[in-house]
Amino acid sequence: MRIAVVGGGPGGLFFAVFARLARPDWQVTVWERDSAQSSGFGLVLPRRALETLRQRDPDLSHRLDSRMVWWENVLIRHNGGSVSIAGPPYSSISRALLLSELRVRCQELQVQIRTGQAAPDSPELARTHELVVAADGANSLVRSAHQRSFGSTPKVGRSRYAWLCMGEQLDAFQFYTLERSGNVIQIHSYPHATDASTVIIEMREEAWRRLSLASDGTDAFGESSVQFCQQILTDAFGKVPLLAHSRSWRRFVSVSAESWTTRNVVLMGDAAHAMHFSTGSGTKLAMDDALVLVDCLAGEAGIESALQAYQNRRYPTVSEFARAAEASRVWFEEIDAYRDKHISEFALSLLIRSGRISAERLRWAGMQALRDTDEPGFRRARVELGVFAEPRRIS
Ligand SMILES: Cc1cc2nc3c(=O)[nH]c(=O)nc-3n(C[C@H](O)[C@H](O)[C@H](O)COP(=O)(O)OP(=O)(O)OC[C@H]3O[C@@H](n4cnc5c(N)ncnc54)[C@H](O)[C@@H]3O)c2cc1C
Repeated sequence: MRIAVVGGGPGGLFFAVFARLARPDWQVTVWERDSAQSSGFGLVLPRRALETLRQRDPDLSHRLDSRMVWWENVLIRHNGGSVSIAGPPYSSISRALLLSELRVRCQELQVQIRTGQAAPDSPELARTHELVVAADGANSLVRSAHQRSFGSTPKVGRSRYAWLCMGEQLDAFQFYTLERSGNVIQIHSYPHATDASTVIIEMREEAWRRLSLASDGTDAFGESSVQFCQQILTDAFGKVPLLAHSRSWRRFVSVSAESWTTRNVVLMGDAAHAMHFSTGSGTKLAMDDALVLVDCLAGEAGIESALQAYQNRRYPTVSEFARAAEASRVWFEEIDAYRDKHISEFALSLLIRSGRISAERLRWAGMQALRDTDEPGFRRARVELGVFAEPRRIS
């Protein structure tokens, strides 16, 4: 089978690797329009992602493992207070390294990669290939070209964020709030290398305008933004250098396509479902899409029925993540409502914002600081939020 993959991000490259491992007789060509490193710094990857990968491709999993950094704590700071929570181990990797290891694996498996070349139009690819895999990200051109079939309405968030890299390895995931001229600034940060960490600075659109960060009326990341972010890093982490930053202040675009397949064209990864970065699951979801898509193609007789089987298997899980991600996005966009909350109430609300972490799970994860302290703010938070009541019996 001749397969065209549009987009050489994590989704497209994982698909190419799994496809060639499953069926060395398939010819896989990946088009990636960027020749330089694409945007982004560190990606958090859940442990489950590595376990899944270990089963499918131990070589690749081993190489990625050696490039990852690990940590166990989450530190939350708000309103002059802080709380540190021990959780299960988390890991992350630099996006550039992940893509470079994936490209090496693709070369070993004889995947053709056309770097620095935009893919031909999807109707043409659909004529010249038996299958077109659209892994071209949240702003997918393939999805736009078949808008009627895929039926997606991208939703633009109400906050602005910048993606930064700073020159120091943090030892925990850290979430901070700071105030600037009465505006709440959020900082999401985590290590991704032994000498670097990823930082996302986020704020409401109104705050971004009031703080005059719109450079010449555009969203470009100008000199005043560099100075602003460097000062935020200094206030939050001490004297640390800002090594790199995104080109602009972006608004997050959530995507949820109603259908992922039309004839021999299929969506995967962010092209099918882009969800707010605060859930840290986009890369794992793209990898799981790739695995299931390959399994369905290898197991079903015809392409259209394989694509339908893929959608049937992935859609329910992805929809559940998408609901949680939307709740998370809205929580961060409405953070002003929590600005006067005591750290304990704030931290609990932050942890359970998406509805994916239950009180049971928090207890299981051994989040001692929140569970055991008898400090009045924590007691009030436990009662108000209804968490850490007596455990329900799970039959
Ligand atoms: C600020 C931020 C932080 C994030 N943090 C995390 C995290 O910690 N953990 C996590 O799992 N996820 C995170 N994500 C999400 C994650 O980056 C995405 O879910 C993931 O990259 C999706 O992979 P993809 O391959 O589907 O799409 P992309 O990574 O967007 O890749 C698409 C590729 O297609 C290429 N392309 C587009 N059009 C064409 C064309 N016409 N021809 C050729 N090539 C084309 C693009 O250049 C790009 O390289 C974060 C996202 C953001 C914005």
